[in-house]
Amino acid sequence: MRIGEILEAKASHDIVTITPQAGVRELIALLAEHNIGALVVSTDGTSLDGIVSERDVVRHLHADGTVVNNTVAAIMTSAVETCGPDDDLDQVMTIMTSRRFRHVPVVDCGTLIGIVSIGDVVKHKIGQLQFERDQLDSYVHQS
Ligand code: AMP
Repeated sequence: MRIGEILEAKASHDIVTITPQAGVRELIALLAEHNIGALVVSTDGTSLDGIVSERDVVRHLHADGTVVNNTVAAIMTSAVETCGPDDDLDQVMTIMTSRRFRHVPVVDCGTLIGIVSIGDVVKHKIGQLQFERDQLDSYVHQS
């Protein structure tokens, strides 16, 4: 399955972004408000300056409790692994597993068009397995 199809099937097409200059408190508020685990860091909403996840907040808070007074730029990951709408879901799944992250922004011709999370991937894999199981079930039980 293509990543573009995963994006089309998502309930929300909103991409929640935050600027590198925003504060960590604002980041935490956005993560909680939108019930998501990571935000794309972008100065203008379409370019990609970094990614910041709840794990970055936890790690930095553990090391230094005052990090909540810092900016997103201080805790984000700048080298972002991205994928494109024509990339294959299984390839992206392999990247998520081997690199141990749960979010991959989707970029088309240099523009941010979405984000795929491990939750989206699992949802589609379960749907696929259920479909295959139903097919096998009706094949086995056909009269
Ligand atoms: P996550 O599992 O997505 O919450 O992220 C775990 C760590 O990987 C955090 O330090 C993130 O900033 C980083 N990270 C998440 N997604 C990506 C990505 N697509 N490319 C590079 N780093 C990422």
